[in-house]
Amino acid sequence: MRIVLLGPPGAGKGTLATAIKDNLGLLHISTGDILREEMKNNTPLGQEAKRYVESGGLVPDELVTRLIKNKLENDPKAKKGFLMDGFPRTLKQAQDLDKILVDLKMPVEWTLCLEASLDVILQRLTGRRVCKSCGAVYHVKNMPSKKEGICDKCGGVLYQRTDDNEATITNRMKVYTESTKPIIEYYKTQGKLKVLNADKEAQEVKELALKNLNG
Ligand code: ADP
Ligand code: AMP
Repeated sequence: MRIVLLGPPGAGKGTLATAIKDNLGLLHISTGDILREEMKNNTPLGQEAKRYVESGGLVPDELVTRLIKNKLENDPKAKKGFLMDGFPRTLKQAQDLDKILVDLKMPVEWTLCLEASLDVILQRLTGRRVCKSCGAVYHVKNMPSKKEGICDKCGGVLYQRTDDNEATITNRMKVYTESTKPIIEYYKTQGKLKVLNADKEAQEVKELALKNLNG
């Protein structure tokens, strides 16, 4: 199965992808995770991306699309199916993704759009914590780790993303409304859109998603 996850920052795309990727045998591809890894390793790409990520703006289309093309062409696991999370984020990215996937003869099958209300998004983003070592995602109230500040999976230290502060969140929401939301219509026109209520608790969102994809 080849799936694109859409929805505002903090709607729970990464959490859902982590929860269903094994059920469905899919590769989770998150451009945000890839960019944060490049930034952590201080690569030229990471250095280029840093200013955009830290201000809550979008990294240039050309740069992220190149990353995705590379992944789709060279990771053998992608051939078995994927869950795309955080890409595409502009109409241009969506059109370029379609071209790449048509060339690879593996077009997008479904887009799952996670709808969440603003107060839920703000509560989720401000309480999000991420493992420095393995990238696992927690929430101080909704999904706390067993031991405060320590990752259950690998024992790594949890941190708060620098872009999860109120000023940057406001900018990310503006960018989402202006640049990313129009993609919903793009996939709707293609007959590939499924919409989920992501305000619900994580287990329910997972069940709704699996029902939508298997039904
Ligand atoms: P996104 O990938 O869309 O930016 P995340 O998956 O990182 O969002 O989730 C944002 C925050 O909300 C995380 O702290 C996560 O633990 C929490 N979260 C995700 N889904 C839910 C849910 N259904 N109910 C409660 N909290 C959630
Ligand atoms: P995320 O982890 O999805 O919340 O993404 C974090 C940040 O990475 C975003 O605010 C952007 O700065 C950048 N980013 C991630 N994916 C993309 C993309 N597809 N296009 C442009 N910028 C992106």
